Amino acid sequence: MRLTVIGSGDAFGSGGRFNTCFLLETAKGTLLVDCGASSLVALKARGVDPNAIDGILLSHLHGDHFGALPFLLLDAQFLARRERPLLIAGPPGTRARLDQSLELLFPRSSTNEWRFSWKVMEIEVARPTEVLGHGVTTTEVLHYSGAPSTAIALSDGDKRFAYSGDTEWVDALISVADGADLFMVECFAYSGKLPGHISWDVLKPRLRDLRARRIMLTHMNPIMLAHLDEVRAAGAFVAEDGAVIEL
Ligand SMILES: [Zn+2]
Repeated sequence: MRLTVIGSGDAFGSGGRFNTCFLLETAKGTLLVDCGASSLVALKARGVDPNAIDGILLSHLHGDHFGALPFLLLDAQFLARRERPLLIAGPPGTRARLDQSLELLFPRSSTNEWRFSWKVMEIEVARPTEVLGHGVTTTEVLHYSGAPSTAIALSDGDKRFAYSGDTEWVDALISVADGADLFMVECFAYSGKLPGHISWDVLKPRLRDLRARRIMLTHMNPIMLAHLDEVRAAGAFVAEDGAVIEL
């Protein structure tokens, strides 16, 4: 399994980083994990062909994690001229939110006659689910998005990838990360306890509880980005746009 960081930014483009988007090339296919608002631009900047993506897996329904979908779908329709099917898998509520987003940004687009088939799979929280041949289990976390916000554990039968999504610290992250070859964890802030997000203050003493082979921080605000030396000194990794990680 190979992960390419397409976007490791927060919602605000801190550090010039693109919104959250990870490209996963696995034994079963090619997936995007999250597809934040800037992701179509970021994919093209990286030379990734959107038509090569088999499916998109969403942690939660915030614009910086799913907001590129209307653009990606319309690109597939009009420019990339996609012919292969596309699966969009996300938490309960994904279909309605995606239709609303399409309609808000491009009126009448939700009723397009699509040249390719795409469908939405709403993943029941905590129920092991197969997504394009991958074993996927989601865990509800603590982050308001108008629908369940989730952490994700994914296996292709060989390697395991885990991702916190956006959340403040919840002990459930320990089991999400358990046995993962890579655990991507959000660390929005440097210090303090804030609603809906993790800070380095909170995460650092928890690193020893996370039994993943590698832990990589993502979704950092400017103050956190100014303290990355502390992350590396603690033995964790830092996501960088364009980085490629072999799991
Ligand atoms: Zn969020």
